[in-house]
Amino acid sequence: MQVPLLDLKAQYRPLKQEIMKAVDELCDSQYFILGKRVEDFEVKVAQYCGCKYAVGVSSGSDALLIALMVEGIGAGDEVITTPFSFFATVGAIARVGATPVFVDINENDFNINPDLIEAKITKKTKAIIPVHLYGQMAAMDKIMEIAKKHNLVVIEDGAQAIGSEYQGKRAGSFGDYGCFSFFPSKNLGGFGDGGIVTTNSQERYELLKMFRNHGASPVNKYLYKYIGGNFRLDALQAAILDIKLKYLDGWSKARENNADDYRELFEASKIGDRAVLPTRVKNATRHIYNQFCVLFKNDQRDNVKAGLMKAEVGADIYYPLPLHLQECFSYLGGKKGDFPVSEKVANQILALPIYPETTHEQRAYVVSSIEKIVLGQG
Ligand SMILES: *Cc1c(COP(=O)(O)O)cnc(C)c1O
Repeated sequence: MQVPLLDLKAQYRPLKQEIMKAVDELCDSQYFILGKRVEDFEVKVAQYCGCKYAVGVSSGSDALLIALMVEGIGAGDEVITTPFSFFATVGAIARVGATPVFVDINENDFNINPDLIEAKITKKTKAIIPVHLYGQMAAMDKIMEIAKKHNLVVIEDGAQAIGSEYQGKRAGSFGDYGCFSFFPSKNLGGFGDGGIVTTNSQERYELLKMFRNHGASPVNKYLYKYIGGNFRLDALQAAILDIKLKYLDGWSKARENNADDYRELFEASKIGDRAVLPTRVKNATRHIYNQFCVLFKNDQRDNVKAGLMKAEVGADIYYPLPLHLQECFSYLGGKKGDFPVSEKVANQILALPIYPETTHEQRAYVVSSIEKIVLGQG
């Protein structure tokens, strides 16, 4: 049996006709950049995320970048985030010239540990970027409380968490900005790059729209009040994503069911505590399982990954080297041991296939393959 880590073709097949019709219409219109297609989609995403506004942008990375730019965050400013995320979270901070300041994660949900944030706040701190990793939200109640107390901007990195909820409220609706990615492997994936920024502030909404179009005035496109960039979302992506948005809740529910199925299969296996399954945090009331990540103890992870490859099961490591240890951030002075939880998790974590179209038989095969490997029979 083969079980790929992700099979986007399985999702595309039943939607092909519907999507191709929309693509055909868009090509007939020859209207490719922003416009009504993008605006309609923005309204739907804002609604979906429980926010007033949404601004379509060119990628999740640019969503983070534009939020920082609109806030005027740059040289001399500090931005707090986690060293255990995709590169773009910290890359955006560095690209505006600000200094990333790391705070370690919790071992249970892999998200920023709110109890460690205040110790890192200085006079230079301007913002916090919590990441809702793998589809489960960070402790937004505590984070918002800290931000309020210290007058900090909160930019949620929800790239892996569209539709995820904390205490019944959606990702992107807590902070000043919610940043989302439509990279094809995210729960809502486009046919290329794309992203969106949500906000509840009308002022920020107007600024986001200007900044994504070089900072041009909305009334005279050759007058520039700000220096923005080209962060526009293609109408083609919006047309495709608009269709896929209708199916998103079904897909996220299927991922959750698959996670429950994995839990039962692991429970019934002889793997025991050699594998630690992802914790469901009580306040994180909706987990959308962009990834299903398991920790393997006793230096077994690489062994398990190699064994799964042999068994034709896709599995991957998100992320093998925490960001404070990356060469490009060496100027920040990070060293081994600085963020012990992130470092430990990076050595133990492995993502297993969780995409909606996987079958029970496939998951049973994944778990029995792991069982053989960790018990030394495979
Ligand atoms: C994917 C991702 C991004 C970047 O999104 P792109 O659309 O690929 O630019 C940022 N942060 C996190 C946590 C991500 O997973």
